[in-house]
Amino acid sequence: MAKTYHILGSPQKWSVLRRLLTLVCICLCVVLVADLSAQSTKKTILCSTSIIADMAQNIVGEEIDVQTMVPRGADPHLYEPKPSDMQRIKDADLILINGLNLERWLEKLITNVGVSERVAILTEGVQPIRSAEHEDSTDPHAWMDVSQASMYVENILKALRKAGLDSAKIEERYRDYQSKLSSLHQEIQQLIQSIPADQRLLITTHDAFSYFGRAYDLPVNPLMGISTEAEIRSLDLSLAIQKIAEKKLNCIFVEHTINPKLMRQLSTDMGINLGEPLFADALGSKDGPAATYIQMMRTNTQRIVSGLSKPQISPEKSSDDMGFLSILGFFLLLAVPFTLLAYVLNHRNKITHV
Ligand SMILES: [Zn+2]
Repeated sequence: MAKTYHILGSPQKWSVLRRLLTLVCICLCVVLVADLSAQSTKKTILCSTSIIADMAQNIVGEEIDVQTMVPRGADPHLYEPKPSDMQRIKDADLILINGLNLERWLEKLITNVGVSERVAILTEGVQPIRSAEHEDSTDPHAWMDVSQASMYVENILKALRKAGLDSAKIEERYRDYQSKLSSLHQEIQQLIQSIPADQRLLITTHDAFSYFGRAYDLPVNPLMGISTEAEIRSLDLSLAIQKIAEKKLNCIFVEHTINPKLMRQLSTDMGINLGEPLFADALGSKDGPAATYIQMMRTNTQRIVSGLSKPQISPEKSSDDMGFLSILGFFLLLAVPFTLLAYVLNHRNKITHV
C-alpha cells in the first residue's frame, strides 16, 4: 500500500499543531480582554492645575489616569470652564484642588454636580499668608514654598487612602518624592543665600512669590495683588520705582503667564535688566525648563539668583562710564611722552652744568 505524505507531516502531527494554534489564540484573546478591561476600569484623578497634576503623577505613576483642568501655561485665576469639564468632574474618582480661593470657578461646578465628597483640598494644614489689605483674603500660592508643597503631597496620599486608591507602589513613590522635595527645599535655601545682600528684593508682576519669599528669606514687592484679575495701581507702581531706585536693583521679573509689556517698559525706563520669565501658577511645556514642579522651582531659583547677581545694565550710565574711561585713557597716553621728555630735558641740564 502506498504511503500518504502530508505537507506538514503526518495527519496526527497536523492535528496537534492545530490544537496548539487554537490554544495560543485563546490565550491572546484572554490577555487582550483583560487589558481592555483594566483600561476601562482604570481610576481617574482630576486635578485643577498642572502643578498639582505633576505632584499626583509622581505618586500614582501609571496606575491611575491623572487629568488636568487648567492646561500647562494657562492662568488658573482667569480660567473659564468648558462644557466638557462638567462631564470630567462627574467621571472623576478623585478631584484634587488647591483651595484658598484659587479655583472659585471649579468649586461652583463641583457644588452644582454634587460631588463634594470626592474633593481633596491640598492646602489643608499649610501655614497661610493673609492678604495685607483684605482680612478675609488668603494668598493661594502656597506651593511656592517647597516645605508647604510637601504638605500638598501628604494630602494627596491621604486622599488616595481615603478613596481606596493607594497601593504599596504608591506608598513607595510617595516616600521617594518627599525625599526629592526635601533636598530641593535645602538647595533653594542655599542658592538664595548667594544673592548679594544689597540686591535681596524680588519685584514681580503679581503676588505669587510671598510664600517663596517667606521660606527663603527674600523680600518681595509685587506690582499687583494675589490674583492676576486685579489691575496695577499707580501708587503701587510708583512705590516699586522708588524701591528699585533706592536699592539700585539689578533686575525685575515677570511671570510667564502674564503679558510682559509693563515690566519690559519699566526695565527700559529705569535702565535695569528684565530677568528671564518666572513660572508661578502653571508648568511650562513638556520639553521646556519647567516641565515638572521640581524643575519649575529649580528654574525659578536659578533665574532669580542669576538676575539679581548680575551687574546693572544702564545704557546711559554705561556710555558715561565709557566716556570717562576714554578721557582718562587719552590723558594717560599723553602723560607718557611728556614724562619722558621732561626726564630727558632735566638730564641734559645736569650734564651741561657738569
Ligand atoms: Zn497666581
